[in-house]
Amino acid sequence: MKVRTLCGDVEAASLGQTLIHEHLAVDWGEMLGRPKILDFEYHAMRDKMVNALNAAHALGIGAMVECTPIGCGRYVDLFEDVARHTQVKIIGSTGFFHESWCPMHPIARVFDIDMMTDLFAREITEGMGDTLIRAGIIKCATGEGKVSPKEEQVLRAAARAHKQTGCPIITHTTGGLGNEQLDIFESEGVAPNEIIISHVGCEKDNWFEYSESLLKRGANVSFDRIGEPSFGGDEHWIALIQNAIAKGFLNQIMMSHDAGILIHGYNEIVNPGVELSGDFTYISREFIPKLKQAGVTEEQWQVMMVETPQRVLAF
Ligand SMILES: [Zn+2]
Repeated sequence: MKVRTLCGDVEAASLGQTLIHEHLAVDWGEMLGRPKILDFEYHAMRDKMVNALNAAHALGIGAMVECTPIGCGRYVDLFEDVARHTQVKIIGSTGFFHESWCPMHPIARVFDIDMMTDLFAREITEGMGDTLIRAGIIKCATGEGKVSPKEEQVLRAAARAHKQTGCPIITHTTGGLGNEQLDIFESEGVAPNEIIISHVGCEKDNWFEYSESLLKRGANVSFDRIGEPSFGGDEHWIALIQNAIAKGFLNQIMMSHDAGILIHGYNEIVNPGVELSGDFTYISREFIPKLKQAGVTEEQWQVMMVETPQRVLAF
C-alpha cells in the first residue's frame, strides 16, 4: 500500500509520525476578491514553510497532510517546491471547501456531481490544476447548521472519486454534522471506516457523545485543533482522547494542529482577531508529554500518530 505525496508515491510504512490535518497556505483571495492575488515574496515564503516543517521534523514528525482544497490557496508548485526542500513528506488535497465562510468555488458552482467526480479523479491520477503533481487525499466540507445542496454534491463526488481511485477522504466540519456527512457517504456505498472526520471536539457542546457517535459508526476521527486555544485547551483534548481510548476506539483517532503558514482571508471572515498558529511542533513539544502525564502510554500515542495515519492514507 502506497501513500501519494507531492514528491510521488511512497510506502505507507515510511511516513512515521504524521500530522493528519495542517495547511501550508489558506488563501481565500481567489474567492473573496480582496486582493485576488496575495503579494508575497516567493522564496521567503517557501523558506518560512520549509523552516516550519523542519522544526517539526527535528521533533520526530515524518509527514503531514496539506488539507487545502482547490481555490483556497492551494499553491501546488510552491507546495511541491517546499516538499523538495524538507524531509517531511507532504500529501496534497483535491476537493472543494464549504460555502459558509466564503463563497463556493466558481468551478464547483457550475459543475455537476459527475464533472466534479472526474475532476477529483483526474487530480488524483494525473495532477492537480495545471501540474503533474498528484493529490493524495480528497478534502470536502460542510458549513454550519445544515449541509447545503452544493456541499452535498461535493461530498457525493468525493465518494465517487474515492470509489474510482481508492484515494482517502478527509472532511472539514463546522461545529458538527459529522453524522450527516457519514449518511451521505454511506448512501454512496462508502463505509465510515474509509472516512476521516476533522475538527471533532470544536462543537459548542456535547463533545463526548458526538465524538463517540462517529467512532461507533466506524469513522476515523481527527482531533486537530490542538494548541489553538480558541477551540479548547489541552485538558479538553486530553479528556476527549482518553474517553475515546477508554471506549475502545484507540485505532480510530488522530491528532493535528490545523495550523497554517500563509493565512489570508481567514481572520477577517471567520475569526476576527484570532491569529491561527503557524506552528507544527506544539503536539510533539507540549501536548504529547502532557498526554503521557495523563496516563496515555507511548504505545497508544504512537498508534494515533503513526499507525492510524498510515492505514487511512494508504491506497
Ligand atoms: Zn483545516
